Amino acid sequence: MMFFGQAIRSASRYLAVLIALACAAGAMDRVKADEPIDIFDAHLHYNWEPKPYYQVDEVLALLKKHRVTGILATSRPNTGTHALMDAKPQGLWIVPFIRPYRVRADIQTWFGDPFIFDLVQDEFKSGYYRGIGEFHISGKAAEGDWVKKTVDFAVQHDLYLHAHADDLAVEILMRHSPRARIVWAHTGFGLSTDRVAAMLSKYPKLWGELSYRGGIVDGSGTLTAEWRALFERYPDRFLLGSDTWINQRWESYGEIIAGYRAWLAQLPPKIAAQIAHGNAKALFGAER
Ligand SMILES: [Zn+2]
Repeated sequence: MMFFGQAIRSASRYLAVLIALACAAGAMDRVKADEPIDIFDAHLHYNWEPKPYYQVDEVLALLKKHRVTGILATSRPNTGTHALMDAKPQGLWIVPFIRPYRVRADIQTWFGDPFIFDLVQDEFKSGYYRGIGEFHISGKAAEGDWVKKTVDFAVQHDLYLHAHADDLAVEILMRHSPRARIVWAHTGFGLSTDRVAAMLSKYPKLWGELSYRGGIVDGSGTLTAEWRALFERYPDRFLLGSDTWINQRWESYGEIIAGYRAWLAQLPPKIAAQIAHGNAKALFGAER
C-alpha cells in the first residue's frame, strides 16, 4: 500500500510538471505570435553622397529596432554598401547590389555611359554582390547598347537586376535576355493590377518590390480587394522596401515599416511571411 501511494504521488507530480511545461510552451507561442514579423527591406539605399544621413551603427540600431533582419543594400556611390558589409553586423543579412551611380545626376545618363559599365565590372570584383541596381530606365531607353551589356553581364554572373522602370522598359530588359531576373522597384507605381498580373504571369523571373506602390490599402488602411487577390494569386512574387533615397525616408523609417506590418496582418499568416521575408530568402538565400 505504501508503495502504491508513493506511485500515485509521484505520478501526480509528474503530471503537474507536464502541465506546467505545456503551459510554459503555450505562453511562449503566444509571445512569439505577438512579436512583430521579421521584415526584409528589399530597397534600402545607404547613400554616401552628399553625406550619409546616419552613421553605420545608427543604421544598424534603426534596423534592429524595427526588426528588419535583412536588407537589399545599395549606395551612391557604392562606398555606403562597403561600409555596411565591412561592419559584418550580427543578426542582419545584407544582400548587396551594385549601384551604377556615383552622383545623383548619373540617374539620367548611366544607360549611355561606358564609364558606368566599367564601374559595374570593377565593383563586381569584390565578389559579394548579388545584383545590379537600383537603376532607372524608362521606355525605349532600355533598348540601348549599354543597357543590353548590363543585362547580359548580370545574366552571365548570376546577378539580379533591380529596375525602377515602366512596364515597357521591363519588357525590353526581358527581351535582352529571357534569363534575366528582375526585382521591379515600385511595381509600376500606379499601374493597374491587371497589368501587373499580366506582367507577373508573362515573366516568371519578375518580382514586384512594393515601395511607393499605390492602391494596396484604402483610405482607412484596409487592404483593397484587388491587391488581396493579387497577393493570393502570386504570394511568392512580392517584396517590401523602404526606398531611403532621401533623408525624409530615414526619418520616417519606423512608420514605413509599421505601415507594411499593418496590411501584412490582414493577410493569411503564410502569405504575410512570404512577402515580409520568405520570398527574399527564396531569391537570395541559396548558396551560389
Ligand atoms: Zn530607390
